[in-house]
Amino acid sequence: FLQIDDVHKAYGQHEVLKGVSLDVERHEVVCLIGASGSGKSTLLRCVNGLEEINGGEIRIEGDTVTGAGVDLNALRRDVGIVFQSYNLFPHMSVLENVTLAPIRVGGVSKAEAEERAMGLLGSVNMQDKARSYPDMLSGGQQQRVAIVRALATQPRVLLLDEITAALDPELVGDVLEIVRELARGGLTMLLATHEMGFAKEVASQVCFLDAGSILERGPAQQIFEEPREERTQQFLSRVV
Ligand code: ATP
Ligand code: MG
Repeated sequence: FLQIDDVHKAYGQHEVLKGVSLDVERHEVVCLIGASGSGKSTLLRCVNGLEEINGGEIRIEGDTVTGAGVDLNALRRDVGIVFQSYNLFPHMSVLENVTLAPIRVGGVSKAEAEERAMGLLGSVNMQDKARSYPDMLSGGQQQRVAIVRALATQPRVLLLDEITAALDPELVGDVLEIVRELARGGLTMLLATHEMGFAKEVASQVCFLDAGSILERGPAQQIFEEPREERTQQFLSRVV
């Protein structure tokens, strides 16, 4: 469904992704783990076109989404991304944040976008905050809005980069529950996290990224309980 094929990415002389290949099946939730700087965020950013790749190819349902001639607007509609720091537009209300992309690049009327947005906000218990501005919301509430905003264009794939990292521990559960609900609904997701508990809860497959390469991949249980590679074992013994 999502095919990442021998992707290379360098910043100047610094090679950050050294030939990453990864297939994500439809309805699958794949989690990227690995040390800080191993390239998790970079890989996610390459998948939705925030970064250009230097080699390899990324395909979604067989369509190439990297290289020259790619329609970046269409790609960003198809691939939603949520960041650790929410990145909501501060001068826009919750409703405006959520309806911006569907109206601007989705070709949806304002009325329809707002109706859909209210439905999505309702699904995360944020309907009554539609007219609020981001700085009036808690971190957990902002993160829920950011997830809804990413879903508003009805993406085929959702990317989540450390979405619980900035949250107070008591708010993590809410966001986790939303991700679980999306997984139950069959949304295909690729996420990066430092929280192994989160990875265990939501991921069907876990990939260990080590210095820009995927060293090991397997079902969550196998990776956490019987990692094959020594580097994976070392990493897990440090973080768990
Ligand atoms: P973390 O767990 O800390 O979020 P990560 O696995 O997400 O780390 P990346 O953010 O992908 O790691 O960074 C991988 C490497 O690429 C790092 O060495 C980082 O310094 C470098 N890097 C990332 N973005 C840029 C950039 N815009 N310019 C130059 N180097 C960058
Ligand atoms: Mg990162």
